Amino acid sequence: MAPEATSTRPSSSIKMSAYCAPCNRSFKEQSDLDKHLRNSSSHRSPTTRRRPLTVSSSSNNPEATVPAIQTTTQDVKSPWSRIAVSGYTTALGELSAHCHSQKELEEHGYIVRPYDPADYVNAKICKRCHCKQTRVVSRECTFHPSKWNKWNKKKPYKCCNTTTVSRGCRTLPTHDFDLSQRALTYQDFRQTPSASTQPKFRAVAIDCEMAGIDGGASEVILLCAADFFTGAVLVNRLVCPRERITDMRTSIHGIAKSSLDKATAQGQALSGWEGARSELWKYIDDRTIIVGHALEHDLGALRMIHPRAVDSSILSEITVGGRRVRFGLEKLSSELPKIQIRKGKDGIHDCLEDVLAAREVVLFCTGARTKVEFRAWAEAKKREQIRLNTERKKAKQKKANNRHRRMANGGCSSYAIDSDDGDEEYLRWSDIAEDLGWPHPNTGYDPWSD
Ligand SMILES: [Zn+2]
Ligand SMILES: [Zn+2]
Ligand SMILES: [Zn+2]
Repeated sequence: MAPEATSTRPSSSIKMSAYCAPCNRSFKEQSDLDKHLRNSSSHRSPTTRRRPLTVSSSSNNPEATVPAIQTTTQDVKSPWSRIAVSGYTTALGELSAHCHSQKELEEHGYIVRPYDPADYVNAKICKRCHCKQTRVVSRECTFHPSKWNKWNKKKPYKCCNTTTVSRGCRTLPTHDFDLSQRALTYQDFRQTPSASTQPKFRAVAIDCEMAGIDGGASEVILLCAADFFTGAVLVNRLVCPRERITDMRTSIHGIAKSSLDKATAQGQALSGWEGARSELWKYIDDRTIIVGHALEHDLGALRMIHPRAVDSSILSEITVGGRRVRFGLEKLSSELPKIQIRKGKDGIHDCLEDVLAAREVVLFCTGARTKVEFRAWAEAKKREQIRLNTERKKAKQKKANNRHRRMANGGCSSYAIDSDDGDEEYLRWSDIAEDLGWPHPNTGYDPWSD
């Protein structure tokens, strides 16, 4: 049997609990990483290098484990880009030029303005019978006091032991109106604090992993953030949601409930989305450019309104043209900077790896050196889309023709024919998602959401 190759072992096969991106080394504990950062020869560098690229020249820098980027003697090659200190200004300029407009962010599901109660006048929903405030004229509140079992529709209501679809077994004269869950969540959104005298990082890449809670909503359970310029890890912390987790989604992110419980018990986990947001705010202000992939999910989970973002999902989508196709991070990473992520892990996400991969993809999409290559990729994708579209149209036409033929030959005359012709010109992403390699075949999970 051939010995396992060790020299080219990809970093993505390493479970990175505490990870030094520049050195491509993982550590068991955060304290080991800290020690490495202090003592390793590859991190001994002038203090200016250890500092974040800050908005002011004050020496009061945020506390962070910020390794410097410089040539290292490690024999394992790191796939992550190193930007020379002299290149920071250029990289920042290129990144700034690609910040999305508010309209663009809004179109991609970002929350861009604070909650306004005026938008929710008469938009409340009865907590008991779930009727809308606007629809109510004089109807009484008829409801079942016990919860409906959405997993087993045949199960009777506990309150009255009936399975009938009746509106309820109890009636009250008035409703109990409240905002929808969506509106309640919206109320929690806050703008990133504005720049102050305290220097913050100019660009930070982030990613969150989520778990499901009651009602199907997602809550953040892991937050990772890295300095865009150095790749230095700023945050890599588990988050303990306040709500009870009903769906851990371990198959997506690999985080076991027991790990989260342990971190929580040891006081190492951040406290809910609010704690995670506060932690991130230690490193950023409203001038910081947030970098990531499909960030609307991450910023949404953190209830953050942030004005400056560069999102690899949006960048790729608008450059390919057409609003219907979104590419997964794994695909972008392998096709643009040519870095294979989630390798040998059954597609399980590694949050920190995703952060660094999104950084690479954004570097690729915004950098002057790779501009031509990125354009060429987008052109090829556009052609691929058109080809798939034509093929699909042909297949559809063939199917329709066959049906017509069958009908003409005395087939069932009530046979329904597809009539969703309004969408012929463009492909829906879902139509060709499979052709592009996602969603995940086993979990059905949308890969661009994390
Ligand atoms: Zn290191
Ligand atoms: Zn009601
Ligand atoms: Zn009932």
